[in-house]
Amino acid sequence: MSDTGLHTRIDFAADADPVNGVVRWSAMKSIWWTGMLLGWVVGGAIWFSWSAVCVFIVSCAVTLCLGHSIGMHRKLIHEAFDCPLWLERVFVYLGTLVGLQGPFGMMVMHDMRDWAQRQSACHAFLSHQSGILRDFWWQLHCKLDLDAPPAYRVPDRIAQDRFYQVLQSTWMAQQVPLAMVLFAFGGIGWVAWGICGRVAVSVFGHWLIGYFAHNDGPDKSRRDWHIRGASVQGYNVRGFGLLTFGECWHNNHHAFPGSARLGHDGQMDPGWWVLCAFARVGLITRLNQPSDLPERAELEPITHDSDQTRPFDLGSPRSDTLPSIR
Ligand SMILES: [Zn+2]
Ligand SMILES: [Zn+2]
Repeated sequence: MSDTGLHTRIDFAADADPVNGVVRWSAMKSIWWTGMLLGWVVGGAIWFSWSAVCVFIVSCAVTLCLGHSIGMHRKLIHEAFDCPLWLERVFVYLGTLVGLQGPFGMMVMHDMRDWAQRQSACHAFLSHQSGILRDFWWQLHCKLDLDAPPAYRVPDRIAQDRFYQVLQSTWMAQQVPLAMVLFAFGGIGWVAWGICGRVAVSVFGHWLIGYFAHNDGPDKSRRDWHIRGASVQGYNVRGFGLLTFGECWHNNHHAFPGSARLGHDGQMDPGWWVLCAFARVGLITRLNQPSDLPERAELEPITHDSDQTRPFDLGSPRSDTLPSIR
């Protein structure tokens, strides 16, 4: 069993180079995000209402948790759980609404970074290892053209799916039907907050967490695992469990990429809680935890001075967690 599916999607045999490349301004990315930000700041102020703020909060929570974290990341990219195809499509549709990319674009973006970070060196665009202002400019307004990128292949199951093909080719336009519904119920203020504000904040938040999840700080205890040979390590960004639906536990994720559970030992992981609820009603039939994954020779636990025991309990075997679905 592959722990991420990544190995079948990136062609390691190719003479790929994760270091050398040119960062170029991306009109599409830059105009998309800046336009959403302006629409929110201007429209959101002029047509402000508390109901619009509620629409913003609820739509952010649904699209980021069910869509981005569960649909795009834990399911489509890592295949960390099994569910019916219709449910996967609902999750992936919600993930497309986040406004970062379509399903294929999300897979490429994630896997290129993941592949590059596992190499002995990689470009600062892929590692987030430049200053925060430059990284902000690069990630929200630019793209990296590697001189020799690896070959990439979206798996047939996903690439041949007509629904995912449509989402990919229309991912920006997917905001329009939701915008029409919001306009019908709450006018332009609901569109400014529920579309422009939500997309602007989600894209910005995705970058900001990604930045801190790949940068060391003075607090060395943010890592419990070390990946030998990888040029970039992941960090747990503490205090952001609820806000990121568990995605902030990025050191855990680098250690156990195929796990549907990101927060360990009391670390708040709302995405995992939602997955367990779906499993309890029978809509999810496999949920990987770290203990379900094959051992990785390059994985090393880090023991902190304050610890008396092993840093993490890896979770109980699946059969103990989900007795009703076995
Ligand atoms: Zn990472
Ligand atoms: Zn991942």
